[in-house]
Amino acid sequence: MSMDVRDLGGRPVIIGGGIAGLMTALHLAPEPVLLLSRSPLGADSSSAWAQGGLAASLGDDDDPALHLADTLAAGDGLCDAQAAGPIVYGAPAAIEYLACLGVRFDRTPTGALRLGLEAAHSRRRIVHAGGDGSGREIMRALVAAMRSMPTIEVVEGFEARRLAMEGGRIAGVVASGPTGPVFVATARVVLATGGIGGLFHDSTNPLGSCGQGLALAAHAGAVLADMEFIQFHPTALDGSNRPMTLISEAVRGEGAVIVDETGRRFLDGVPGAELAPRDIVARAVWKHLADGHRVFLDVREKQGATFGRQFPTIASACGRAGIDPTCDLIPIRPAQHYHMGGVAVDLGGRTSVPGLWACGEVASTGLHGANRLASNSLTEAVVCARWVAESVAGTPARRTKPAFAEDYPSPDPLSVRPFSSRALGIVRDGEGLQAAARALLPLAEGTHAVSDPAAVGLMIAIAVLQRQESRGAHYRTDFPHQAPDARRSKITLDDALGAARELANSPALERAM
Ligand SMILES: Cc1cc2nc3c(=O)[nH]c(=O)nc-3n(C[C@H](O)[C@H](O)[C@H](O)COP(=O)(O)OP(=O)(O)OC[C@H]3O[C@@H](n4cnc5c(N)ncnc54)[C@H](O)[C@@H]3O)c2cc1C
Repeated sequence: MSMDVRDLGGRPVIIGGGIAGLMTALHLAPEPVLLLSRSPLGADSSSAWAQGGLAASLGDDDDPALHLADTLAAGDGLCDAQAAGPIVYGAPAAIEYLACLGVRFDRTPTGALRLGLEAAHSRRRIVHAGGDGSGREIMRALVAAMRSMPTIEVVEGFEARRLAMEGGRIAGVVASGPTGPVFVATARVVLATGGIGGLFHDSTNPLGSCGQGLALAAHAGAVLADMEFIQFHPTALDGSNRPMTLISEAVRGEGAVIVDETGRRFLDGVPGAELAPRDIVARAVWKHLADGHRVFLDVREKQGATFGRQFPTIASACGRAGIDPTCDLIPIRPAQHYHMGGVAVDLGGRTSVPGLWACGEVASTGLHGANRLASNSLTEAVVCARWVAESVAGTPARRTKPAFAEDYPSPDPLSVRPFSSRALGIVRDGEGLQAAARALLPLAEGTHAVSDPAAVGLMIAIAVLQRQESRGAHYRTDFPHQAPDARRSKITLDDALGAARELANSPALERAM
């Protein structure tokens, strides 16, 4: 039966088929809901690629208060404790809910959940499924649950390109599918579009994750938060493949060490060594590479023969690259991995635009602050999806007028990558940022394929310029210390365009920003 997407208007529309979109749809059921996904469900999403798992305080020696303390410490003074508390306290129940939905978590012979350790966690609290294939198993179960829910209409192969507004509120979604552009009239939209890795040369994200949800929200006038905070993972498999294969922190949690070509463990003197917070390990690896060394992960002594059983996804990626981790060193380099910033939301996922919600990586709840604690993002998406669904369900449907669907180009971040990779990477400086902002401004001002990715890059560049300190994952060589009284940052597209235009007209302006 052929179905016209326009006929499905009026219901809440969820944009994105990763864990955040699927969980929100499942929680909204049996309310009729329309889920738009650019790709077949589960494909092209970071969720399906997640290796480590979900963080939750489930061990006998653990407590949500300890999970909260670790989260706040990783966030380096910028987490919103009012948001972080409810999320980490909600984590154990969320894991139970996933198990009820059919997720087959890894268990001990007695049936208890097997708990892994990751960097900057003071307890073993990472729940896995299928070893290092956690995301794949979670998505398998969620997609099956979705398919059995008749009130959830899934429309694959449609990309949301713009949000329509009426009197300052959401009035619909302009999407493009196989038959061209369509307008779906709705007063309630949930963004669940994932991250920004596609803006960088070196990233672990699917290439299509280029911040389109941020661009949709920004064009609708939404406030975005903490845009400057981007996490770089220290251990991506170094090679020519893009996106890069992640080598999960769990590998270091099980004893792998980082060495250089001489076999030296150059992180030896760093508190926590290989399990120090991600930003510290990533910067150390980056610097060692910049100094002309090669850097490797060595699993031979601690994991050796068990590695393939414990980390089958990573082992087969190494195999494809001609590396046998039982006897070879694994070459690594840091790669963009996760965006702490996003559309500013409250715990119900409400943005500053009436009728617009956000959930998952595209949202910024305040949980992560300046640096995400490993495996807190899947947890955040699962916990918050329930509250987002409750908020959407509690907001009465409003009739909106059908409109003409203008055709907007599909985003293409290719020509943004050189600027973002150079200026918005692990180590930043004012000069490089100003150059990037000037270069991105004219690209962001048009309506071309590059414009939305450029607008996202520009908002990040301005937020980075305005944070004149170093904190968490954000490091500036010209402001290497923490500033007193630091706060979370907020920015709109107009703010970013205005700041970039001033910069373009006055080269010495950065000091005043
Ligand atoms: C390799 C890797 C390993 C990771 N491991 C872990 C881990 O172990 N633990 C952890 O907590 N986190 C992990 N993360 C981070 C975590 O996976 C993500 O933060 C999380 O999955 C994001 O979920 P999401 O639903 O917000 O976005 P995604 O899962 O990325 O889904 C976004 C969806 O939106 C769709 N989409 C985007 N734009 C549009 C549009 N305009 N129109 C229609 N559809 C659109 C995409 O096609 C996709 O389906 C990992 C990330 C990566 C890349």
